[in-house]
Amino acid sequence: IKGQYGKYFACYDDALRNELVKERTITDQMETALTQGQFEIYLQPKYRLRGDSLAGAEALVRWNHPEWGMQQPGSFIPLFEKNGFITSLDQFVWGSACAVMRAWDDQGLPPLNISVNVSRADLYKEDLGNTLLEIVQKHGLDVSRLPLEITESAYTDDPNQIIETVNSLKKLGFVIEMDDFGTGYSSLNMLNQMPLDVLKLDMGFMQNETAKPMNQGILRFIMELARFMGLSVVAEGVETREQLERLREIGCDYVQGYYFARPMPCGDFEQLIKKSMDP
Ligand code: C2E
Ligand code: CA
Ligand code: CA
Ligand code: CA
Repeated sequence: IKGQYGKYFACYDDALRNELVKERTITDQMETALTQGQFEIYLQPKYRLRGDSLAGAEALVRWNHPEWGMQQPGSFIPLFEKNGFITSLDQFVWGSACAVMRAWDDQGLPPLNISVNVSRADLYKEDLGNTLLEIVQKHGLDVSRLPLEITESAYTDDPNQIIETVNSLKKLGFVIEMDDFGTGYSSLNMLNQMPLDVLKLDMGFMQNETAKPMNQGILRFIMELARFMGLSVVAEGVETREQLERLREIGCDYVQGYYFARPMPCGDFEQLIKKSMDP
């Protein structure tokens, strides 16, 4: 038994060491990666359910690593949230999204919005509002073009501070979206105090096939609540026709998911816009 335990422990130890080595490697490389242009934004379309029209996009970061290939955010964002680099990376993403919208406007394409993720760490930066405002203005865009997706779980950290920060962003004219809504962190009271524009339903609502009737009931309730509060609702993680029909049934406003398209390079998204303009 002792031998077994030793083996198990050594194995656990190895995995932990590898994890630490990987983290160290990423930490050593991240700054250079940013200056060398290894980070890139992908865009995933959002559609208006009524009329099936292209409504905008969400910017999702990718790391095109010279050795490891294209890395998904799950493999580096959690570390960047821990070591603070997320602040620099997010600013890069916001700037990239604005540059893309500028290019669309210059070509006379429809003025679609690109929403961006704001990490909980960003919310504690004193000058967040001004940083965002400067980026948007530098590209000659209206602030409403850059909706901010703030994850629901961020609202519980220090509710009063977060409410104040979000209020100041709202005052500057930013559209505020509560991301991953329904993961269970925020109270209805919090919802009431937050100057939100959009509820973005967590993907779990789409994937929970086990309790379908109940799920549909909850979605109906959320829609009603959103209507009452004057918010629009985006469903993400829509993968099937059936899910889409259920969302249509409850009157959801916008949809996003693999059923329509995966996140794609900006050039591909531009083609999508042009196609959507064809009569
Ligand atoms: P999120 O903000 O909730 O973004 C949605 C995630 O769901 C994206 O994963 C997207 O590719 C994925 N997704 C979209 N449609 C579907 C679908 O139909 N089915 C399934 N199974 N997944 C779908 P991604 O790009 O891997 O990003 C993961 C998370 O990483 C994001 O979750 C967000 O929390 C974070 N993230 C991504 N980019 C950024 C960024 O620029 N800044 C910050 N702070 N976080 C980011
Ligand atoms: Ca998001
Ligand atoms: Ca989400
Ligand atoms: Ca998420």
